[in-house]
Amino acid sequence: MKILVTNDDGIHAPGLAALRAALADLGEVIAIAPDRPRSACGHSVTLHKPLRLARVRLAEGGEGFASNGTPSDCVALGVSEHTGGPPDLVVAGINPGPNLGWDLTYSGTVAAAMEGAICGLPSIAVSVASYGATDFSAAADFARYLSGAVAKRGLPQGTFLNVNVPAVARQEIAGVEITCQGRLRYENRIERRTDPRGGAYFWFSGDRIDSRLQPGSDVHAIAGGKISITPIRLDLTDQGLLTGLREWNLQWPE
Ligand code: MN
Repeated sequence: MKILVTNDDGIHAPGLAALRAALADLGEVIAIAPDRPRSACGHSVTLHKPLRLARVRLAEGGEGFASNGTPSDCVALGVSEHTGGPPDLVVAGINPGPNLGWDLTYSGTVAAAMEGAICGLPSIAVSVASYGATDFSAAADFARYLSGAVAKRGLPQGTFLNVNVPAVARQEIAGVEITCQGRLRYENRIERRTDPRGGAYFWFSGDRIDSRLQPGSDVHAIAGGKISITPIRLDLTDQGLLTGLREWNLQWPE
């Protein structure tokens, strides 16, 4: 089995090293990742400048490829004939920081798995639910376990798995929950500050509103110390509103 690993934190990120090591005994692992941190780049792709790919030596041993592109670019490159053709599995991570609820839409880690699914490949995004995470061992072990299961059973076309692991020691993990994508809201999202010359600037900050956690959601599972696995579809259609919206009977020109 050939496994493509990538991330949005850069080819030398410790989360990627942990993932490579964990998956090594499942098959041939190829690392293609951005040459710099690209967190929160979403599903952006490089269309208006050359995309480069450089072979790099990795501190933990072996080689990988660094690209000046985004995580999605890295998956597209990894699936192409230029890097030996499509892998059997795409795994993105391990991201230091949760990817839960509506934050999925910003995530470069999740976008990499999304690109894998677009390419028709079983794909998994893995995150540890702490921005300061340095211990990826539990998440790496779980990534190996889940990769084995996905390799055996496959995933439906157009669906990938988004996995979040609590930032605790393995023996403190409260279990595994299959979840839906929750809601994640922030208040006071944009903070206004003043620069030394008196000009205004703005900075994303804000507090997560966790008061209405929805049971069964990814946010709820992580709050309860469980590993969350959410099946995510590329199809964003609101099936429930299809009929209602058709009943608006929108006609143009009137
Ligand atoms: Mn990241």
